[in-house]
Amino acid sequence: VRSYFTGGITVEGQLEKLKLSRDDLIKEMELITADMENGLSGDEETRRKSSVPMLITFVRNTPTGAETGDFLALDLGGTNFRVLLIHIEPDQITMDSRVMPMSKELMTSDAETLFDYIADCIISFVKEKNVQDKVLPLGFTFSFPVKMLSLTSGILIKWTKGFTATGVENQDVVVLLKEALDRKKEYSINIVGLVNDTTGTLMSCGWEDQDVTIGLILGTGTNACYMESLENVGKWTGQIDEPKQVIINTEWGAFGDNGSLDWVRSEYDKQVDENSLNPGQQIFEKMISGMYLGEIVRLVCVHLTSKGLLFGGVCTEKLGKREEFLTKFVSDVESGNRERTLKVLEDLGYTQPSDGDIEVLKQICQVMSERAACLAAAGLAAIVKKIGRSHCTIAVDGSLFKKHPKFKTYMESTLGELLPGKHIKLMLSEDGSGKGAALVAAVACQKH
Ligand code: ADP
Repeated sequence: VRSYFTGGITVEGQLEKLKLSRDDLIKEMELITADMENGLSGDEETRRKSSVPMLITFVRNTPTGAETGDFLALDLGGTNFRVLLIHIEPDQITMDSRVMPMSKELMTSDAETLFDYIADCIISFVKEKNVQDKVLPLGFTFSFPVKMLSLTSGILIKWTKGFTATGVENQDVVVLLKEALDRKKEYSINIVGLVNDTTGTLMSCGWEDQDVTIGLILGTGTNACYMESLENVGKWTGQIDEPKQVIINTEWGAFGDNGSLDWVRSEYDKQVDENSLNPGQQIFEKMISGMYLGEIVRLVCVHLTSKGLLFGGVCTEKLGKREEFLTKFVSDVESGNRERTLKVLEDLGYTQPSDGDIEVLKQICQVMSERAACLAAAGLAAIVKKIGRSHCTIAVDGSLFKKHPKFKTYMESTLGELLPGKHIKLMLSEDGSGKGAALVAAVACQKH
């Protein structure tokens, strides 16, 4: 490795500042635990101190494996919108789905435009599958912070992940969907469960493995949920009846929105936040998830280039442009495959990078990916400690986790370090949002 030295600033020195120590992670665990506890409190004043919403989902059971039936599921939460037809049997789940793109125009439109589009997608799907004459129970995965009023109604607290459609915040999204379908007069739905992707992920893995108690998303955004004892949910206003538990959707992406992460945020994190559609919000998410990781790496590259430590001090037009460094590029570089790395560099306008450039880029990607994975793992460690489990399985979904070649390894190593002696498994969820929504619907239907 070549050693770089310019005016006292070194690549190593710059990157060292971004690495997290064990003490940093333990501090993060303490802070998020305090916020989780405050967020669950029955006292409004105490809840206000927390940046972690700790939303009640009203999902009280994971699947037993005995659920059966046909269900529709909707999945809205990021890059795509999907409609699914799901057949559940005790030993297998089969799915048929259609993916519909979610354009920037739709994401930033208004309630009527967005929900009319969703309604059109549902209608064309049920016709294509020839189930337009049946009113199948429907599970709706809506992966944004929602204040649930019951299992079948919930109010969008605020948009995240680039959505800004007007007239949806502070509204019941189930009502908006039903109204859109009513306007079309072609198909009516029977929503039996409204969940988010995190809960869906927990449910879908919980169907296979009874040890699943935590769900995690590492995709466009990040979030986690877990099964909590009702006695720890001070804000639970219902009866403390069996099963004395409920899944809590932490919405931990908002951790740090009260300033509690300021000690660990870098200049790059602040820049990402300032340039975003929701400044000051989703601080933890902006340090971790797929929507932002590539941009953080880009900002580090730009800074080191401006100091003459990278690319011979030459910043191409592309490298200088926001969001041009995709999080996928981070995975390409971290794969260690020289061809893939060269392709990334070429894409950014560097056709003849030096070996030193390649090496520095690798280090940047590694440090920032590892930082993201450690932050997420410390959050999980805090949850595992909070629920006092000696062993558990964490269900994980999202492209960042699935496609990044080292994210899982980084997380496992941090979990091992922070939770010595505990047996924690990270389980990959296959289509948690779709399958999970149907399973929530199935579990709800069994109750009636
Ligand atoms: P969503 O969270 O929107 O439901 P995904 O789980 O597919 O969907 O996550 C999309 C995010 O994953 C995007 O922000 C994208 O940057 C990131 N992503 C896509 N491909 C890769 C990859 N190969 N490596 C790392 N991140 C990726």
